[in-house]
Amino acid sequence: MPFDFQGKHVTVAGLGVSGVPAAKVLHGLGARVTVVNDGDDERARAQAAELEALGVTVRLGDGATLPEGTELIVTAPGWKPDKPLFTAAHEAGVPVWGDVELAWRLRRPEAAPWLAVTGTNGKTTTVQMLASILKAAGLRTAAVGNIGVSLLDAVTGDEEYDVLAVELSSYQLHWAPSLRAHSAVVLNLAPDHLDWHGSMEAYAADKGRIYEGNRVACVYNVAEKATEDLVREADVEEGCRAVGFTLGSPAPSQLGVVDGILVDRAFVEDRQKNAQELAEVSDVDPPAPHNIANALAAAGLARAFGVSAAAVRDGLRAFTPDAHRIAHVADVDGVAYVDDSKATNTHAAEASLAAYESIVWIAGGLAKGATFDELVTGAAKRLRGAVLIGADRALIREALARHAPEVPVVDLDRTDTGAMLQAVQEAQRLARPGDTVLLAPACASMDMFTNYNKRGDAFAEAVRELGA
Ligand code: ADP
Repeated sequence: MPFDFQGKHVTVAGLGVSGVPAAKVLHGLGARVTVVNDGDDERARAQAAELEALGVTVRLGDGATLPEGTELIVTAPGWKPDKPLFTAAHEAGVPVWGDVELAWRLRRPEAAPWLAVTGTNGKTTTVQMLASILKAAGLRTAAVGNIGVSLLDAVTGDEEYDVLAVELSSYQLHWAPSLRAHSAVVLNLAPDHLDWHGSMEAYAADKGRIYEGNRVACVYNVAEKATEDLVREADVEEGCRAVGFTLGSPAPSQLGVVDGILVDRAFVEDRQKNAQELAEVSDVDPPAPHNIANALAAAGLARAFGVSAAAVRDGLRAFTPDAHRIAHVADVDGVAYVDDSKATNTHAAEASLAAYESIVWIAGGLAKGATFDELVTGAAKRLRGAVLIGADRALIREALARHAPEVPVVDLDRTDTGAMLQAVQEAQRLARPGDTVLLAPACASMDMFTNYNKRGDAFAEAVRELGA
């Protein structure tokens, strides 16, 4: 039975990307909606005015107090669970849902099943690959979540879908207790957002919720036992299978790679003896190891949904990655310039550094509490040199001094936007033909740029000046 919102007192916590549409939808369903918001800036006031015109109550500058009579809270996913509002809700026995829980509850009974993707890195890419494969199979689908269509639009809009490819963050999963996907994957698990979740265990547990109640397959990463452990701990539907993906040769019930071919040994007749060829490594763009892993994960979910091997191949071929994710910008004098500005944490940077043999690495920015010893140790023998920019570059410089003292390092001591041009020029000086100059900052960008897109654009612009 869909939840009946008629006359219910619902508090929406947080204006913004999920709050405003949630308030509108709930109001449309007859709920008595109050929006509470910590901030009281110009943007918040404009959003408040829009909602108030509809008859929604908005309280700006007070996100801590539970409004009288609240029967349900619908929160923006980023709100930390230890906020006073939630403590008050807990004491009063008021349930708290996130945007995903709301969307899940608003689904029509016959609505499209969800194929769900989470992980520390690779979510967006994998969801887009999956949507591309599902489309190639002739299914009506969309990549839903942080990109493309919003989840709420996908479940409440007029467009009809056969299946949805859904990206879910650890925050969203935390607030989505009743979500039950058709099949799901946890791509990888590295420490991230620990200040929000409180501990690595709590972070992993929130990611693991994606497997709860899966009907057909829980897809996990063979190289990361923690993801398999989460499958084991999940309470799934009778008959739901654990399916691994690996960059090596697949065992039965796994997808993997054999002689440059992506193969499926999970969704085939007699998997002890048989394997099904899906695609070639060269069908995946870019064919970097971590991206092959993303392709295998997407293929695993698509195959769990019954998609043919040919559609997996066609969908992967049709896929092009979003900007700033290992984007090849240009070759200048035999040196490749690659923009992976989206590598905003060390786990992501580790994956892109593993994809090239000889690298001049441009790194630095806001470290968000990360340490760089492991990253530098792993990459040391591939580094021709490093050019460091941004606020926390000293952390990377020190790690390089400790673990790769022979690697030449240029420390730019700059945090202005224009520093990228100089960084690229210094990188050109260090590089030799055959090398890759790789922007994989392992840090957030906000000390120097508005966001990672702008950082990547500045890199591409600087590379174009080299070639000019
Ligand atoms: P997310 O949506 O999880 O942030 P993206 O698909 O946008 O992930 O990729 C973000 C960055 O993470 C990429 O630029 C790349 O550096 C890195 N990355 C992508 N896939 C993986 C993976 N499977 N393992 C490790 N790093 C990855």
